[in-house]
Amino acid sequence: MQSLSVKRTKTEKVVFVDRDGVINEDLIGDYVKRREDFKFLPGVLGALKQLVQSGFQIVIISNQAGIGDGEYTKEALKEITDHMLDEFKKNGIHIRGIYYCLHGKNANCNCRKPKTGLLEQAAKDIQFNPSQTYLIGDKISDFQAGKNFGLKTLFVLTGHGKLDQAKITPQEKPEQIFPSLKEAVEYLKERTS
Ligand SMILES: [Mg+2]
Ligand SMILES: [Zn+2]
Repeated sequence: MQSLSVKRTKTEKVVFVDRDGVINEDLIGDYVKRREDFKFLPGVLGALKQLVQSGFQIVIISNQAGIGDGEYTKEALKEITDHMLDEFKKNGIHIRGIYYCLHGKNANCNCRKPKTGLLEQAAKDIQFNPSQTYLIGDKISDFQAGKNFGLKTLFVLTGHGKLDQAKITPQEKPEQIFPSLKEAVEYLKERTS
């Protein structure tokens, strides 16, 4: 599923950001099912604003298997998304696109991360150079998806980060690990200015 996308025009400076556990609190073991469940993590709005001010196009990619598995509805997801976007707008944060996988955990779709379907969708709408593009996530499956698509990957220790950090191996690891989105953004600003 895609939303909020406009056809590509020229090569853009894009950063892919996972949602739950990076932007908002991940209810470990449960889904964000209602608007009331959606709570921004500390420092996120400021960090995303800095990305915008540094010329980045922010693209959100998120697994929402609770839809396919019948835990909440598309309407509830839309309400959550609208709420998130309202807060972004109030803070001057433009979002270039949002791509959700709505399939259940066992649907074997091609878009649930670590698969790359969401990134492939984005690449149809937005022109970016994968080898110069970063993905920020809090799960192993995030950086696997990024690597599978040839992106650079940053891992944050919010959300599932601390749990998943233990599963990182020398053979399969992100480019960098940061305490939260704030520090990842500082790194990006230095690397890509
Ligand atoms: Mg996450
Ligand atoms: Zn899917």
